[in-house]
Amino acid sequence: MPAEIRLFLCLKDNYGVLVHDPASGATAAIDAPEAAAVEAALAASGWRLTDILVTHHHADHTDGIRELKRKHQCRVVAPAAEAARIPDVDQTVREGDKIAVGTLSANVIETPGHTLGHIAYWFHADRLAFVGDTLFSIGCGRVIEGTPEMMWRSLTKLRDLPDDTEIYCGHEYTAANIRFARTIEPDNKALTARAAAAERQITQQQPTIPVTLGEEKKTNPFLRADRPEVAAGIGMAGQPAAAVFAEIRARKNKF
Ligand SMILES: [Zn+2]
Repeated sequence: MPAEIRLFLCLKDNYGVLVHDPASGATAAIDAPEAAAVEAALAASGWRLTDILVTHHHADHTDGIRELKRKHQCRVVAPAAEAARIPDVDQTVREGDKIAVGTLSANVIETPGHTLGHIAYWFHADRLAFVGDTLFSIGCGRVIEGTPEMMWRSLTKLRDLPDDTEIYCGHEYTAANIRFARTIEPDNKALTARAAAAERQITQQQPTIPVTLGEEKKTNPFLRADRPEVAAGIGMAGQPAAAVFAEIRARKNKF
């Protein structure tokens, strides 16, 4: 049976997500930004929390863990490289590991850059990827602990997933990301169309995610740093993709 998803905003602009396996009743929270918001989503769905799958150690992804663990005795799964900085971890995971949520299965993909131990969870059979603060819709996370080269490699790993993969990210940043992306690729028609669609979603107070990876590949400048027209558009024709990515990321930091 396919996974069921419940997406909700919490804190200022974080997304919380529940992934539910109807076959077994298991439910995983992807990160735990805020216990109360996760509890409200559990109450509204009638689901029982069995697992928390953590993408990285930042407080706005982990602050709810202790309280949820105390109440639900759920399993906490976290990246091995960051386990010491995440509360109540039961199981650590690395690249290539598989995690079961009831009968659902996720592959662990290491995506260092935003933090050094950041991971994504790819539920391949369900065509879902939970990418934390590595990839955002039309954007990417700040390169806080790693290097631009490392972040570019991580983004290309996510880009290699199937085009119909639905991407769930950690924040609602899409409107600002689109404004920036149009400064990099003003003539990108797919981006113009996505901007109009996102504006409608935001006006109607709808989330702008999930978005398919195929759509992101057409519109997200951070996934397009190896395209000649993107490099040429910012005056870096012929430069290595990682350098083009670093320049786009640097411009976004100042935007
Ligand atoms: Zn973060």
